[in-house]
Amino acid sequence: DRIEGKADVRLVDGRLLAFSGLFVASRCTPSNPLAESLGCALEETVLGLQIHTDAENKTSVPGVFACGDVARIPHSVSVAVGNGALAGMQIHRSLCWPETVLPLRG
Ligand SMILES: Cc1cc2nc3c(=O)[nH]c(=O)nc-3n(C[C@H](O)[C@H](O)[C@H](O)COP(=O)(O)OP(=O)(O)OC[C@H]3O[C@@H](n4cnc5c(N)ncnc54)[C@H](O)[C@@H]3O)c2cc1C
Repeated sequence: DRIEGKADVRLVDGRLLAFSGLFVASRCTPSNPLAESLGCALEETVLGLQIHTDAENKTSVPGVFACGDVARIPHSVSVAVGNGALAGMQIHRSLCWPETVLPLRG
């Protein structure tokens, strides 16, 4: 039902479970509707809603790429930075050699 004090959990039946601390799995959603308004497919994950992409960071809309928290779990700085670098490479590739970029599948 709710958290009381520092980290005690009050159940809906009234029982109180005492803990020293709690780890919570928070859900995220894109803070901006840009991708959705462009028609990019979204997908549900255990950590919330994200933009559906493939291993090349393509979205379901040709020419639109997504990376970082908005498109990848787990959410971490190093994953987001690496994913951003890969997305940049894929965008470069799509501009220079568009014939090598296949549409996103699935
Ligand atoms: C409380 C908390 C603790 C965390 N601790 C860690 C940790 O210890 N280690 C770790 O590796 N990761 C941690 N993370 C996760 C990490 O912060 C993210 O994975 C990472 O910042 C994702 O980078 P990103 O560039 O994809 O997204 P973000 O860092 O969210 O960057 C997106 C940017 O886009 C901007 N933006 C949004 N809409 C618009 C718009 N319309 N126009 C212009 N700009 C816009 C936002 O303001 C933001 O600056 C933590 C996250 C949170 C919330």
